[in-house]
Amino acid sequence: MDDIKLYATTHNDLSHLANLTEHFSKDICMDFGIDKCKINSVKGGQILQHSTYQLETGQQISSLDQNEVYKYLGYNQDRQIQYKDTKLKLQQQFKQRLNSISETSLIHHAIAQTDTKLTPLNLSDITIQNNETQIDIPTKINDWTRKSLHGRHRKDLCQINVDKVASNAWLSCGELFPETEGFMIAIQDQTIETRNYQKHIMKLRIPTDQCRKCNSGSETIQHITGACKAIVQTDYKHRHDQVANIIHQKLAQKYNLIPQKLIPYYKYVPEPVIENNNYRLYFDRAILTDKTTHFNRPDITVHDKKNHTALIIDIAIPNSHNLQSTISDKLSKYTDLRDEIKRMWRLSEVTIVPIVISTTGIIPKQLHQSLSTLCLSQYTYIQLQKAVVLNTCRIVRKFLQQETQSDTQRISSSCQHTSTELPASTLVNNIPLSPNTIIISSSH
Ligand SMILES: [Zn+2]
Repeated sequence: MDDIKLYATTHNDLSHLANLTEHFSKDICMDFGIDKCKINSVKGGQILQHSTYQLETGQQISSLDQNEVYKYLGYNQDRQIQYKDTKLKLQQQFKQRLNSISETSLIHHAIAQTDTKLTPLNLSDITIQNNETQIDIPTKINDWTRKSLHGRHRKDLCQINVDKVASNAWLSCGELFPETEGFMIAIQDQTIETRNYQKHIMKLRIPTDQCRKCNSGSETIQHITGACKAIVQTDYKHRHDQVANIIHQKLAQKYNLIPQKLIPYYKYVPEPVIENNNYRLYFDRAILTDKTTHFNRPDITVHDKKNHTALIIDIAIPNSHNLQSTISDKLSKYTDLRDEIKRMWRLSEVTIVPIVISTTGIIPKQLHQSLSTLCLSQYTYIQLQKAVVLNTCRIVRKFLQQETQSDTQRISSSCQHTSTELPASTLVNNIPLSPNTIIISSSH
């Protein structure tokens, strides 16, 4: 028991309640903080000046003054909660905290200066380390490409159908937190401590490398980012829908179906059907056709009434090695629907538009073509990529946080005894990263 508020309609009732509280407090050996107690009388909405109130012990509680307030659960109140006042105070507090955060680079600097071999990093040492054997970039890239595990992302980037520069846009834009960038690079480098990594790379003696959620298939990083059956309808759907939202909002605004005010994609809720004289836009709606088509529910369907054309848009976020096959699948999956729509709606042309990005943000060249078919800005991919990268990081973090009991014990013991044979893990946001992972820190 901490703060307590007593309400009564009459003075007598109040005395009764106060006495009861007093007795009870005494029984559990608690005292009133009399100096913090006040009494307040309200009649017809007006605050009455009240004489002091006397407790059974003889202690006195003074009356709340006309302009005085009291703090209850963090809110200033008198007759009611002082919203304006509370808001102002919160604003001031927020600004104060923001200022202190913006001074953290100074703190960072101070810490670095103080660390004279206090930590293994020895941050005060500013001499350039000469432990790199390769210095020229082509050799580094070559070495990276030859690594069978860490080089997989590099190989994915070098696929003929991939736009390498666009695939790295999320890194050059610099809009993400350094922690997120570092985490995504760890995912791309396959250095996340999944069960597969623990068993086969770290050689830990764990009972199984099967997925902790679906228990069907080895728990590799690819399994987590895009192949776990247990999170298809939740986490993968959420990531997919965020990309769909971006495309839907852009199209709806382009066709003047919704106001031009931009709503953040994670707050935007697409209408199932919106229509004006020129366009009709369906979102995640089954298109009824005379002939049965197996796939009749594309993510977005556009009917251009004036030009007698339609677009069937379908979105997918597969793992990098499945990029090309996913695009081909999307194109073939909707051919029946395309033919049916063309016939039923009497259209001159119906185009299937796949919007496909890899779980790690790799952009297939085909995406540029799709965006151009939709007449959207060629830079739209940057926004789609950001949403995917953020969501994949979120999915992996969430997944790894769901440890089994034994895993949690093992991790906590490996953190306490870093001198044992277990490789020392680095914990970022409580996510165990494997030993090879490097966390890039900011230096603004
Ligand atoms: Zn699974």
